[in-house]
Amino acid sequence: MLLRHTTAKEVDRKALTVNPAKTCQPVGAMYAALGLHGCLPHSHGSQGCCAYHRSALTRHFKEPVVASTSSFSEGSSVFGGSANLLTAIETIFTVYEPDVIAVHTTCLSETIGDDLNQIVSKAKEDGKIPDGKRVIYCNTPSYVGSHITGYSNQVAAFIKFFSTSTPKKRNVINLIAGWMEPSDMRELKRIAKVMETRTILFPDMSGVMDSPLTGKYDIYPKGGTTVDEMIATGDSKFSIGMGTYCTQDACIKLENKCKVKFEVMEIPIGLKATDRFIMSLSRHGNVPVPDSITDERGRLLDLIADNSKYFYDKRVALFGDPDTLIPLVEFLLTLDMKPVYIVTGTPGKHFDEAMTEMLKERVPEAKFRSGEGADMFRLHQWIKQESVDLLIGNSYGKYIARDENIPFVRFGFPVVDRPGSNSFPHVGYVGAINWVTKLLDVILDHQDRTCAEEKVELVM
Ligand code: SF4
Repeated sequence: MLLRHTTAKEVDRKALTVNPAKTCQPVGAMYAALGLHGCLPHSHGSQGCCAYHRSALTRHFKEPVVASTSSFSEGSSVFGGSANLLTAIETIFTVYEPDVIAVHTTCLSETIGDDLNQIVSKAKEDGKIPDGKRVIYCNTPSYVGSHITGYSNQVAAFIKFFSTSTPKKRNVINLIAGWMEPSDMRELKRIAKVMETRTILFPDMSGVMDSPLTGKYDIYPKGGTTVDEMIATGDSKFSIGMGTYCTQDACIKLENKCKVKFEVMEIPIGLKATDRFIMSLSRHGNVPVPDSITDERGRLLDLIADNSKYFYDKRVALFGDPDTLIPLVEFLLTLDMKPVYIVTGTPGKHFDEAMTEMLKERVPEAKFRSGEGADMFRLHQWIKQESVDLLIGNSYGKYIARDENIPFVRFGFPVVDRPGSNSFPHVGYVGAINWVTKLLDVILDHQDRTCAEEKVELVM
């Protein structure tokens, strides 16, 4: 009973979050920056923040995460971190030789009010930025939003600093990736290739956060969207943003700056969201859907039909990020499951609206909440009031799952106690097949372990 003090009775609380379903803004900015080839994320704040953000990513991806810090001391906390950042820029280009430094702020530098625009302009004037190299920046005050907000701010900064419109428009579609695993990004590129569409995916952490073991360490692995590709996004004919929270801002900025029209949709998790993604790619790429993709869809349908009896009416609790929870809840409904409790620490109306729309008829008793007060303590209280058959969320959910003896599927960020969360795609029809097998595995394992002896079946 690790969470023995959780009570079923909810008490109204406004100024207290217990076990938040989110992490801090710069973690998202750092992750997104790693999706640009040759980029070194730089944390403008104290060492502790940067160490925490790096370790949060390393624990999940099991990869070294390279990032630098302005190393604030007491002096910079009082007088500002301008001198530290100017020195850092010079040192980083001399010692680590990145193509781009992507600076993001922390609570401390935001509270001081450091002006990144002015500091980076000064670095340019002083000749601290070598020719052909760039310093980009975004603001990531962690006392608002979440890691998802930081991710969105970094992706929007890519548009601000790189995307350029020329008279030469290209028959290319921008795929703007919300927070997903490198395996998902690889799957999106595979789908685009099979559909014979020309795309630029950004940010692209495949080949960076899951780089192969070669015996040789590369500070900048070969993956990631290149600077040239990022610049060319301004000449693309259309953008598909995957995940409202992570990509809508970038889509709007790109349209305003370079007149690239866009569509924001859910991350293609599950049958319906993947259908929408494939159809959008087909429509805007002006290509038919190939038979091989239709076959993948058919195999998914077959798997769902074969196993629907194990999913029917199962009550599910979920926590995580809004851009993944929305399509996942839609997929659970497709499987005839009942998502009854859903929380995300990331604030925003879109989540509440999407949940209301999806659940009002099928699961009218569902409880969901976003932003402040939407924490795992509350989720646990709801579970104590009436239990569920399945819990889906990051590694922190294991304590609830253990205390309540609930089958648990690890998904989201961070997953630090099991390998493989970034090895298999969760998007596309192939990802949906992975989902179905993953869900079935834990549900049937639990059934085999807990049912009466005379009910144990060899063939399910
Ligand atoms: S001080 Fe702010 S930026 Fe630093 S780790 Fe804490 S929440 Fe994140």
